[in-house]
Amino acid sequence: MSLVVVSNRVARARANEPLTGGLAAALLPVIEKSGAIWVGSSGRVRDGSHKEPFAEVEALGAGALALLDLPAAHYGGYYEGFANSALWPALHSRSDLIRVSHHDYQSYREVNAFMARALMRFRKPDTAFWIQDYHFLSLGAELRDLGVRNPIGFFLHTPWPARAIMGAVPHHRELIEAMLAYDLIGFQTDDDCENFLSYVQSELGLKIQDSVVTSRYGKSRCAVFPIGIDVEKFALQAAKASSHPDVSRLRRSLNGEQLAIGVDRLDYSKGLVNRINAFDRMLVLNPALKRTVSLLQIATPSRGTIEAYSNLKSELARLVTEVNGRHGETDWMPIRYLNRGYSQTVLAGLYRTARVGVVTPLHDGMNLVAKEYVAAQNPADPGVLVLSKFAGAANELQTALLVNPHEIDGMARAIAAAFAMPLTERRTRWEAMMRKLRAGTAQQWFTDFSEALEDARASNEKTASNCPAAAAAVTSKSWPLHLVGSRSGAGVH
Ligand code: ADP
Repeated sequence: MSLVVVSNRVARARANEPLTGGLAAALLPVIEKSGAIWVGSSGRVRDGSHKEPFAEVEALGAGALALLDLPAAHYGGYYEGFANSALWPALHSRSDLIRVSHHDYQSYREVNAFMARALMRFRKPDTAFWIQDYHFLSLGAELRDLGVRNPIGFFLHTPWPARAIMGAVPHHRELIEAMLAYDLIGFQTDDDCENFLSYVQSELGLKIQDSVVTSRYGKSRCAVFPIGIDVEKFALQAAKASSHPDVSRLRRSLNGEQLAIGVDRLDYSKGLVNRINAFDRMLVLNPALKRTVSLLQIATPSRGTIEAYSNLKSELARLVTEVNGRHGETDWMPIRYLNRGYSQTVLAGLYRTARVGVVTPLHDGMNLVAKEYVAAQNPADPGVLVLSKFAGAANELQTALLVNPHEIDGMARAIAAAFAMPLTERRTRWEAMMRKLRAGTAQQWFTDFSEALEDARASNEKTASNCPAAAAAVTSKSWPLHLVGSRSGAGVH
């Protein structure tokens, strides 16, 4: 049986390259092992009608990676436009930041339709498609329009907001109705799943029973699959990385100070301004902490052509300068602020060096950085995670110091408490979090979703068998979980 995974961005398995973005980081190791074909954007665009989508295919572990050039005429409207200036802000409950032109939705649909045509090359009777994230909400419907009856699942890596917020997205009804072409729709948390179902019920007026929506496409099951990381691998990487030159240099430069670390894409959902303000406030409230603690904030620029992102970058740079100017001394600065990426190995070593991990998004689907920070700790002397209660990870990591990222004083107190926490309490909290991480690895997430997709399609097939035309188009009776490495059909140009 074969699995085709689709996402906008794909990752390449080069150990020393940064892998910024939770989706790519989580998918890479499981896809490498599964033998699946991973299809995504090459990052390049092409002129022309794209009747013949162009894909470069390379080996990826037991499977393959297929990189598509997306249509030049629609890329901007699709990526910077509808996906990242309408859907992303809405999904993160920031409808105030929605900025779209009326062509953007059209471009988004065109790119989804283009991807569907490209995927036909990879389809075999036993193929299951697994579509990732908000870039491709309507891809399943496009595949169904092309006659595809194979199982198609979808997983959303971001949150799903309260019903009224999605109503601010242009064409929201048409788009969300198209999502019901998926056999299975996966979310990070119960809240996300409930919000989606509440939208479907009230805006689309559709029938829902036991989280299964019935629409003109048949049945679509909604369920929760919290994404995880490869815990043991990350822990090992972190232990080894202690001797990496970048990590040793950081340790030497601390002169005995304790470090807090923040690692994020430079995105307004990450609560970076509030975090810097909280660190500032902590130093005001606890002047004795000066020269004994500092914050390393790594903020990798992303989506820089979008105004909300370039504004945030300027605002943060100004704020960090102000805080350093206010508290800094000739031989000590409270904040080290870096706008670059690091390899997973170095990152793991940096996390382990830090006594405190500060992960304080305003709203986040999961936030894998929180999980990585925990996995990277030294079991004999673990650090403390300060975690926003609005990160998906907070559902599992209940023994972190949970904070409200809108409450600056509360965050300041939590960071100070994390620096002061005695070893026994740090260990108790950390061990409980590690148990959670081990129970919900990336591999487990992959297996759980795959099994649920098989079940969801099987029950849809039963429904389809009542309809002779649809039943004839169903080529496989069920979709066995076992995924065999296969590159046949992958040589597409
Ligand atoms: P998002 O997917 O919104 O970016 P997550 O916290 O879920 O947020 O995932 C971020 C991923 O990107 C993590 O795997 C993290 O290690 C990686 N990452 C973030 N910043 C950097 C960086 N500066 N260098 C390398 N990797 C990074």
